[in-house]
Amino acid sequence: CGVFGAFSASGNPVLEEVYLGLYALQHRGQESAGVAWIDGENQIRTIKGQGLVHLALNQAELSGIPASSAIGHVRYSTAGGSGLSNVQPLAANYCRGPVAIAHNGNISNASGVRRYLENRGAIFQSTTDTEVILHLMAHQPHKTELDALVDSLRKLKGAFSLAVALKDRLVAARDPWGFRPLALGKRDDVYYISSESCALDLVGAEMIRELDPGEILVIDTDGLHSLRIPVEPRRRYLCSFEFVYFARPDSLIAGQSVYQVRKELGRRLARRSPCSGNCATGMPDSGTIAAMGYAEESGLAYEKAIVRNRYSGRTFIEPTQRVRELGVRKKLNPIRELIKGQSLAVVDDSIVRGTTSRKMVELLRNYGASEIHMRISSPPVRFPCYYGIDTPTREELAAARSNEEALCAEIGADSLAYLTETDLVEAIGLPACEVCTACFSGSYMEDGEKYEELDI
Ligand code: 5GP
Ligand code: SF4
Ligand code: MG
Repeated sequence: CGVFGAFSASGNPVLEEVYLGLYALQHRGQESAGVAWIDGENQIRTIKGQGLVHLALNQAELSGIPASSAIGHVRYSTAGGSGLSNVQPLAANYCRGPVAIAHNGNISNASGVRRYLENRGAIFQSTTDTEVILHLMAHQPHKTELDALVDSLRKLKGAFSLAVALKDRLVAARDPWGFRPLALGKRDDVYYISSESCALDLVGAEMIRELDPGEILVIDTDGLHSLRIPVEPRRRYLCSFEFVYFARPDSLIAGQSVYQVRKELGRRLARRSPCSGNCATGMPDSGTIAAMGYAEESGLAYEKAIVRNRYSGRTFIEPTQRVRELGVRKKLNPIRELIKGQSLAVVDDSIVRGTTSRKMVELLRNYGASEIHMRISSPPVRFPCYYGIDTPTREELAAARSNEEALCAEIGADSLAYLTETDLVEAIGLPACEVCTACFSGSYMEDGEKYEELDI
């Protein structure tokens, strides 16, 4: 998912910019989009819809609403179904006032917290993990909204990058591990928070910095106030998959250009797993940049030999295998003239179920490729993610089912090679202990935290 927020100290309307921010974060969620703000009567207001940002929301309508503080969300479901009740921001007017929350990540102890709250009378309106934050706040009516929020965040485990609208305040928060990115920007008197810096570029804001893991940033007419989630300090645990696939290449994460890291993944892949091909190509769009790095390092010619229909989205979360296979065909088509008689290095960012690679190898063979060497710019995805990226169950993960050799045969390639975990971490440039690679390694965190029960 993607979150965005804007706060204008001089009271200028910001909803159109929130719309634009969401538009730039579209790649982080295509199922639904929504915005929330607090109106002149101190009531929380939302507009939400299903599908892409420009279908779910109306830019002209939003530009006419006089809200000087607002948040927004683009969603792809990792916890809870994709029905309308789960579309974010989640909002409520509770006894202390209005509150709305937009959340990226997965709260790993949400089911335990939910049970705890339901046993004390909470009636949940959705099946998202995010709703537990609202109820945790409402169960502390003696505290101010901000104090209740801070204490609620203390009780959560897992991943959350949040934008929260409170009366006269915009709040941004990042879990103590810092799994998901979250950046702060500014233009004139307006502060922005955004999942990725590419959205700050679109609204003409300068990126000031990223939020620290465990930071709660309060923005009001006095400026910025930084608080900490009151837990013992933890080391950072940034999601490596943001660099591999999820984030946009024009974003900066942990001070690193996603584009440059992605290209370096390709170079490292070429050094460790060269091949006898005479041309390198990428599976668009996700494999393109790594393919350029692969070609550069190996001295192969780089061709954009596979064309992607630019109107098709990120279609990997299709419900059935048949639809997924058709999805690949609908989305990707090789250029016959570049394929015939060629020995190709084909680079993709990841293999999940294996559908894309298998379908593409079949097509390339039909188009007359002489050899096909699949090169993957991430380690094998063998384990599910519990921190906000949608991965299927272990049984469905191609690399969990079969070893490399068997998988190579299954997808029908002449060779198959993956990036190593060490190369991935080194390319990101953070110490290994600060980078999450759990979907590759299965080591979910020092305390083995996955889904946990609440202990209040
Ligand atoms: P496959 O066809 O092997 O199931 O999926 C591989 C393709 O899905 C890759 O091209 C990759 O870009 C894309 N993909 C990336 N991230 C994810 C994810 O989180 N979940 C799924 N299912 N697919 C992803
Ligand atoms: Fe990212 Fe994988 Fe860790 Fe999930 S398990 S946070 S996708 S690195
Ligand atoms: Mg892809």
